[in-house]
Amino acid sequence: MNPKPTLYRWLLSAALVLVALHPAAAQSNKLTATLDGITFDSSYDNGSLAAISKLALNEYDATLYTDTGEKGTAEYWFRFTMSGVAGRTITIHLDHTHNPVPFLRVLDPGPGAWRRMTANEAPDNSTLTLSFDTNTTTVELAFFEPLGYTETLAAVTNLTAASPYAILTTLGQSFENRDLHLVTVNNPDYPDAGKHRVWVHTRVHAGEITSTHTMLGFLSQVLANSATGRRLREYVTFHIVPQVNVDGIHRGHTRWDAQGIDIESEWCNIRVPEAALLKGQVDFLMTQSNPISVALNLHSTRGNFTDSFFFKHLSPSVSVAFEGIQQNYIDAVDAATPLFDNLSAQTSQLNPCTFIESYFWNNWGESVMALTEEGHYYRRITDNAWTDGAHYREIGRAMARGLVTYYDLPPSSEPDPAPTLVTQPSSRILALGQPFSFSASSTSAPPVAYQWWVNGEPVTGATSATYTSLLTNVTQAGAYAVVATNSFGSVTSSLARLVLIDGSGTPIAFADDFEANSANRWTELGGFTSGGPDYSSDYSFDYDTYFSAFLGAPIPSAPNSAGATTHGLKLTVNDNDPVGALAAVSLFPKWQSYEATHALKFDMWINYPGGAGGSGASGTTENAFFGLNHSGEHVV
Ligand SMILES: [Zn+2]
Repeated sequence: MNPKPTLYRWLLSAALVLVALHPAAAQSNKLTATLDGITFDSSYDNGSLAAISKLALNEYDATLYTDTGEKGTAEYWFRFTMSGVAGRTITIHLDHTHNPVPFLRVLDPGPGAWRRMTANEAPDNSTLTLSFDTNTTTVELAFFEPLGYTETLAAVTNLTAASPYAILTTLGQSFENRDLHLVTVNNPDYPDAGKHRVWVHTRVHAGEITSTHTMLGFLSQVLANSATGRRLREYVTFHIVPQVNVDGIHRGHTRWDAQGIDIESEWCNIRVPEAALLKGQVDFLMTQSNPISVALNLHSTRGNFTDSFFFKHLSPSVSVAFEGIQQNYIDAVDAATPLFDNLSAQTSQLNPCTFIESYFWNNWGESVMALTEEGHYYRRITDNAWTDGAHYREIGRAMARGLVTYYDLPPSSEPDPAPTLVTQPSSRILALGQPFSFSASSTSAPPVAYQWWVNGEPVTGATSATYTSLLTNVTQAGAYAVVATNSFGSVTSSLARLVLIDGSGTPIAFADDFEANSANRWTELGGFTSGGPDYSSDYSFDYDTYFSAFLGAPIPSAPNSAGATTHGLKLTVNDNDPVGALAAVSLFPKWQSYEATHALKFDMWINYPGGAGGSGASGTTENAFFGLNHSGEHVV
């Protein structure tokens, strides 16, 4: 399916004679240096730091790498680790003008998550002041939440390997022989003929990292197990090049490729294999019966813009009608997420040789809606918080969702599935006073709602995938499960048991103190031989209100009643049958099933008819039977 890259490789070998006249600078941004016991290291994939020198103990001067190419210099990317930082406060003088609040993560112990530095940690655009506790030995600093060549490939593989609709292939090799990948997303259940075709490529400029997060969001949306994901895959085929300037990314460049060339500007006279591979694939796809109709070229800008933006190309470089075609997609993305409001709308005239958009326009005109998208490193418009990778992944998902409106896609012909649980809750054995949590999760869509249950009763407020609480009461012991529901159905998890170890060390699998009405925890079965149903139940009866003629006093607190309260379960039978006849009631706690050896313990007060000692009574008196693992299906 892919065009053979051989021709381009052959042509390139001639072109390389020319570029050899101005070879790229050596990889002087890969350093390893130890100062005062702190090892600074940028000698890894995507690492970049040109120099580090000591000003005083724990105070250093860091020099950014200047990325020099035939179109000039570019300089903002940095990424390096520092080992041996435990217990220190370290000041680094480093130019981070284009991102006032760079990123940090703890590598050891870790790795932890990337986070923006605080205002104290990045007090101005040329200083970082970082304090570490005695447990933190190694940290990593970066201009923005980074993804190197290998990390990007791992993130893409993680998404594609989990989907039956994605194929990850190699287009060919870069100048430095790194693989250039292509992800194709297609649902083969639907014929190609009627499908739209979308092209996305990312990170032509090496340091423009927001574009990688945007791409990952876009890819996750088109692969999503959701109504929108199914709809997109039914009507659209996607081709995504997850990283173009793979050499520059690996080197830790800000902008140019390994030869100092701007891959973005290679559309008239292609001298680099990366652009040749893109062009070859695009040319092939444009020969299909359903050629590319949307092309998205993802970038980042170092400018401080209010919002992410698209470069809309204007007449006279394109037609006025094409301006409207571009605006339709921009409006569709605007409507797809509150994180984009087109507040930084930018325009440009197409240049015949720069941007893939020019290549599309020059060859296929209005039939390909091609746009450059730019993220930035500053605050977002909605809450004025600083942007991060998650922000741009959501922008990317919205760029995919916007295609539903742009193409006016029909609804998916596949019904949405009911949820399935990918993890189940597991049992816990805990003492009173300990925290506990149960969790289960569903990746299903439409959005899933959760409700946790204990012993057949819904737990108030427990409506997340994880239920966390404190074990404060014996009635919390028992069987837990969660019900996950979406608009197409629901599924109940397996039961997980919370066993409480009481003060004497006895494990309690289920208990009811009847302090509150717990009728919902029990199943009742009534039986009678005439005039029924003929029983009553009261699950929080205050038996102190019940005068015992036998005792000549109210019924005292049960022997095992915590706090000497006088609440209990009251059962009566044969209340309303004028004829002497059998009547009974059986109770079964819901959701209980036990294996191995268990004991049943309870306090019981039983009244009998007639006067004291039953004198003067007629007929039989009360019986009570009790045990474990009764089938719960009939009255004893
Ligand atoms: Zn760019």
